[in-house]
Amino acid sequence: MVCFMKISLSVFGAALALMTGIAEAQSPLVVEIDQRAIQLESKVVAWRRDIHQNPELGNREVRTAKLVADHLRNLDIEVKTGVGYTGVVGVLRGGLPGPVVALRADMDALPVTEQVNVPFASKVKTQYNGQEVGVMHACGHDNHVAILMGVAEMFAGMKNQLPGTVKFIFQPAEEGVPAGEEGGADLMIREGAMQDPKPDAIFGLHVMSLANVGQIRYRAGSAMAASDRFVITVKGKQTHGAIPWGGIDPIVIAAQIVLGLQTIVSRQIDVTKAPSIITIGRIQGGVRNNIIPDAVQLEGTIRTFDQDMRADVHRRIQLTAQSIAQSGGGDANVEIFPGVPVTINDPALTERMIPTLTRVAGANNVAVGPLQTAAEDFSYFAQVAPALYIFLGSVSPGIAPETSPVNHSPFYAVDEAVLPLGMRTLANLAADYLFGKGILQGQSN
Ligand SMILES: [Zn+2]
Ligand SMILES: [Zn+2]
Repeated sequence: MVCFMKISLSVFGAALALMTGIAEAQSPLVVEIDQRAIQLESKVVAWRRDIHQNPELGNREVRTAKLVADHLRNLDIEVKTGVGYTGVVGVLRGGLPGPVVALRADMDALPVTEQVNVPFASKVKTQYNGQEVGVMHACGHDNHVAILMGVAEMFAGMKNQLPGTVKFIFQPAEEGVPAGEEGGADLMIREGAMQDPKPDAIFGLHVMSLANVGQIRYRAGSAMAASDRFVITVKGKQTHGAIPWGGIDPIVIAAQIVLGLQTIVSRQIDVTKAPSIITIGRIQGGVRNNIIPDAVQLEGTIRTFDQDMRADVHRRIQLTAQSIAQSGGGDANVEIFPGVPVTINDPALTERMIPTLTRVAGANNVAVGPLQTAAEDFSYFAQVAPALYIFLGSVSPGIAPETSPVNHSPFYAVDEAVLPLGMRTLANLAADYLFGKGILQGQSN
């Protein structure tokens, strides 16, 4: 029944696309993708559980990368390993000419001790910044890896029918790197992940507790925040706690700066354009109750959704901290360390792929998602090629998402029904893109 519906819909869709000449093409592989997703499901579940039970922190994904690389080689996919430490890039050239589409999965886990009661829960411990920590796929990247391994196997079996090339990017260290190391999407790109061949578009997905399983969320344009770290060192002059006029009190200045910074986002930035956040997460200064110290350090994070606003907020942090410090007779040194840029979904590509999402998940299950103040280093890929990054709900049916443990929680658990949906989503995005682009190119010739 379901199958019949899909065939007739797909024929109707193709006919409509031909009649109207619109680019919103659907690949002729729709039915085959669904069949292969069903066949591959148990394999993908097994991979996911194996990866879940053996999580590895950023730049240490040695076992995971080997699992991926061995799998791709077995499928006769060209493989490059060690791209940005442990990154793996696979290239599958289809039997027909066409564009290049890339699919990306991140592979790293987090320093979190798993509290989920499943037989494949992680018991792994490791050293992280000098402490012993548990390691857990608390962000769900185990699912991303297993889904993309499934899509690779699916497309390897349909190679001759593919008009173009599919690039599989398995990325390390999305969550950050050990102190003193580089890594993640940025390093993979610098080491050639987006060259030879250069993708015409890239897709990625993330499992998330914001919705029930079966739901897809997307957002055109700015979707996830830029994340920048900053450190402010307030310089005063040490004196007796009972004789503050004998020195310059950096603690009082720091307290004023904490409040002053909040007026940037609440009083100075046009909040109707985009939200922004300034958070101080650490204050350090002083050694005992009756000594006013020489200096205080403040450290925080900045979240913005717009490149100009990002630069403006940086400038205002500098000005606010220094002006307040000077008004108290002290000085402030402001250091801003630019982090991950805004994740921008290409508006035209997003628009073009919405019919694919609604076909795969059902129109009632696809909606525009909220802005995410979290950052995601997929944003670097989106600077190189038009990109679309989407979210798949991971909460089991019958459980309200808002009551469900969020990503990064030691209780974060994923309903595995997300795995076949993830495979079908990525595969259909890639296939529709390859065929749609082919039709467009054919028309323009
Ligand atoms: Zn995460
Ligand atoms: Zn994540």
